[in-house]
Amino acid sequence: MSQESNPLLLFWIAHYANGESLPEFDPETGRVNLFKEIDQPRLIRFGWYPFTQNLADLLKKHGIRVSISLLNPCELKLGKGQRLIAFRRNLIHQAGIHTCLRCGAYWQFRDRHGSSALPISHATQKQSDKEGRLFESPICPNCGAANPLICHNCKVFIGRTESCPICKTSLPRVIIRDSLEIRTASYFLGFQETIEDRNRKVLIQIFPSGRIEISDGSD
Ligand SMILES: [Zn+2]
Ligand SMILES: [Zn+2]
Repeated sequence: MSQESNPLLLFWIAHYANGESLPEFDPETGRVNLFKEIDQPRLIRFGWYPFTQNLADLLKKHGIRVSISLLNPCELKLGKGQRLIAFRRNLIHQAGIHTCLRCGAYWQFRDRHGSSALPISHATQKQSDKEGRLFESPICPNCGAANPLICHNCKVFIGRTESCPICKTSLPRVIIRDSLEIRTASYFLGFQETIEDRNRKVLIQIFPSGRIEISDGSD
């Protein structure tokens, strides 16, 4: 799969000390400016910005796929000696999903990566086994289907097995677990600086959901 498979959510603008700026996409023509064209020594501020409808329409004519997101602009003011780091990256995660065989709905029990690409549901049914241990299993958020936990004939707890140990009735699963590859585009913004021969790197990762993660490290 190509790196271009996700529509762009944010574009960059480099701001210079004299009030000029260089945007990734020219708002009049849609022409692309390359990151390497940024005049780094004159740079005082750099940001990632969501697309406006006008810019999205213009870029569509150039075959550039963008999404109008509700993300906030994220700007970085660069201090003396701070070197800009900015890039976008498609990341692939393996996400555990539940699928309902009755209605075809699928959902994530939780969303660690903030991808918001899949619906999330925490709904579960609870049942105790003979020893009183609580057993939880997911409920379909769309149709309410759930895996049988008790044999309807014998009223015995069957847990995860697919047939009753007593009457041998078949009790097939309707909710199955699977894993899915989720692709998300993350946007990075930060700087590097060298202070007394030590290299410090501060990096903000912006997830498509708007969640941000900041790392501050030195080596
Ligand atoms: Zn369902
Ligand atoms: Zn039974």
